[in-house]
Amino acid sequence: MNLPNMQEARLRTDALVEVIEAKNIKSDRFKNKKYFIRTYGCQMNVHDSEEIKGILENLGFKETLEVQDADLVVLNTCAIRENAHDKVFGFLGRLKHLKKDKPDLIICVGGCMPQEESVANLLKEKYPFVNIVFGTHNINDLGTLILEESKKQLIEVYSIEGNVYEHMDYVRDSKFTAWVNIMYGCDKFCTYCIVPFTRGKQRSRKMAEIIKEVEKLKEEGYLEVTLLGQNVNAYGKDLDSDYDFATLLENVAKTGIKRVRFVTSHPWDFTDEMINVIAGFENIMPYIHLPLQSGSSKILKLMGRRYTQEEYIALYNKIKSKIKNVSITTDIIVGFPNETDEDFAETLKVVNECKFDGAFTFIYSPREGTPASKIKDTIPLEVKEQRLYKLNELINSYSLEHNKKYIGKTEEVLVLGPSEKGEDKVYGYTKTMKLVNVSNAKDDIGKLILVYITDAKSFSLDGEKVIFAKN
Ligand code: SF4
Repeated sequence: MNLPNMQEARLRTDALVEVIEAKNIKSDRFKNKKYFIRTYGCQMNVHDSEEIKGILENLGFKETLEVQDADLVVLNTCAIRENAHDKVFGFLGRLKHLKKDKPDLIICVGGCMPQEESVANLLKEKYPFVNIVFGTHNINDLGTLILEESKKQLIEVYSIEGNVYEHMDYVRDSKFTAWVNIMYGCDKFCTYCIVPFTRGKQRSRKMAEIIKEVEKLKEEGYLEVTLLGQNVNAYGKDLDSDYDFATLLENVAKTGIKRVRFVTSHPWDFTDEMINVIAGFENIMPYIHLPLQSGSSKILKLMGRRYTQEEYIALYNKIKSKIKNVSITTDIIVGFPNETDEDFAETLKVVNECKFDGAFTFIYSPREGTPASKIKDTIPLEVKEQRLYKLNELINSYSLEHNKKYIGKTEEVLVLGPSEKGEDKVYGYTKTMKLVNVSNAKDDIGKLILVYITDAKSFSLDGEKVIFAKN
């Protein structure tokens, strides 16, 4: 067993990364068997689960959405917040009972949590009914581990970063929109973040491989790709090449795929070239997620974010002025250690100035092993909750203000599926990533249609499909 060591992870910045052809092991040993997968956390995990599904289906498994029908269960875990841990351990309790009735059930726990040494040890000591434990760096080995599985618990978690695997078989969740990983890991080491430890140092894929993947997706009928990475605009910095994220984005746009998105950007790496490319291509969507985290320069420094309040606002204004109709969302953490009322007021000040289209807001939660977890946290939970409440009220008011401007306009929407807002409705997204519930479009799933916006709420729009009269 090879477990992560936080100090080692920091030092191993020049470990050799190889590009390797994925194993894609095929077998019919598990023909007629079913798997159930539960994914926690970010888009990166969602896409990892598409890879895991590809591995399982190559072994003969078919997916079931009912855990009690499964012969194999995979929990693809997240380490970003404490409550993500709690959810996984809660679900494992349920699986323990299920295994009493189904002793041959194979339980696998993978993803970010086992990359933490304490979690891997806990699974070994307290959860012996878990058959296979794997990490983020060896997802590609899951097929081999399942074929090797015996009654003994198998733990295989690598602290060293994984290689970059190409040509993997994915089972994608959508037939119209696809995630495309452009890089793995992150070198930023924001002081609160566990990602550089659980996902390792930055490893970019070669541009030619990414373009090939996008071209294939386009041929298969996909209308939208989202380029995925922890810090996409640092793409290429680890490669011995002269291309960067702006070059990649331009080349992806030139494939002619209808819609190109990317997530997530770090303000530090946001270049003028990127802004020009986004502004210059119709098929690069005018939507940017630009994490702020805090509006206080003092807190930003403690977070290791490498920009000040003034620099963030200047970048925000530059993007707004150069990219037509762009919508910008953000992430904000409240209650970071040492955040005073004045620091929080600075965050509100930035929100009032930027008037974001939306935000993911969180109360700070220390992650073991990160530098920030060593800073004494003296802010009472009640104060943190009050700050979060106040922030959300402000954010929601600006979201509503932005959304109301869409009423009476006609927007292009990519329809993705049935809406939760009524049987006669479908849902989809505008170019600016606004969720729209659409009437009269039940036959348009998987299509780009024009929608007349009739109403707006803080988190969504309502609209009707525009039907052109025949002459
Ligand atoms: S840039 Fe994002 S993923 Fe990287 S360390 Fe900072 S918060 Fe974590």
